[in-house]
Amino acid sequence: MIEIRGLHKYFGELHVLKGIDLDVHNGEVLSVIGASGSGKSTLLYCINGLEPIQQGRIEVDGTDVHARGTDLNALRQKLGMVFQQWNSFPHLTALENVALAPRIVRGLPRAEAREVAERQLRHVGLGDKLDVYPKALSGGQQQRLAIARALAMEPRYMLFDEATSALDPELVGEVLDTMRLLAEEGMTMICVTHEMGFARDVSDRVAFFHQGVIEEIGPPAEIFGAPASEHLRKFLAKIR
Ligand code: ADP
Ligand code: MG
Repeated sequence: MIEIRGLHKYFGELHVLKGIDLDVHNGEVLSVIGASGSGKSTLLYCINGLEPIQQGRIEVDGTDVHARGTDLNALRQKLGMVFQQWNSFPHLTALENVALAPRIVRGLPRAEAREVAERQLRHVGLGDKLDVYPKALSGGQQQRLAIARALAMEPRYMLFDEATSALDPELVGEVLDTMRLLAEEGMTMICVTHEMGFARDVSDRVAFFHQGVIEEIGPPAEIFGAPASEHLRKFLAKIR
């Protein structure tokens, strides 16, 4: 599981995360919502050790992410990450893109890496695109390629940072469907998202970020059906 205690994060003078306490249990899907600039992406970067923290502690399966001596490469293999826009290698096919990290980082033999890549491309519905170059894929297909690439590392956790925000509206559904499939398979996921339908239908819990704190957290029925915080009510009114 992921355990976060008393987390504070600054960028210089800017106090971005102001005391975050959060547990994400195995098999749980947590959606993170909140206004732009509230610290959602920063939290994900702190969890996978891309950003240092100034106070508090983050543990992933009992490993202190920010302790000296923590093997960040090993840690990041457990934490698949999908960003808003993912730049695949244009000179590699879909299969080669997905097979790259298993071969280089996990050290799998070429044939085995290709097998893993093929399996994960089928998993995200790109089984017919193995030999296609990224520029021939739609935005939705490219995001599913990004998900396949993350899955090829066989992570225990998937972190999504607005994976559908850069997509044309008609392409959002296929990516959300893939995320939903992973959730149904029991993947532990943290999904920063503006897709309230997804947050409501797929997550076990929803965390509302406001100015660097988790202002409210609970099951979707409570967050969307009976929001307690004024800020959350205003946020929901604005996006509906
Ligand atoms: P969100 O993902 O909720 O939109 P972010 O975590 O990206 O918010 O950003 C939170 C705050 O931290 C914002 O004020 C943003 O400008 C600032 N910030 C984010 N990344 C950096 C950085 N690398 N350097 C300085 N400030 C940053
Ligand atoms: Mg963000």
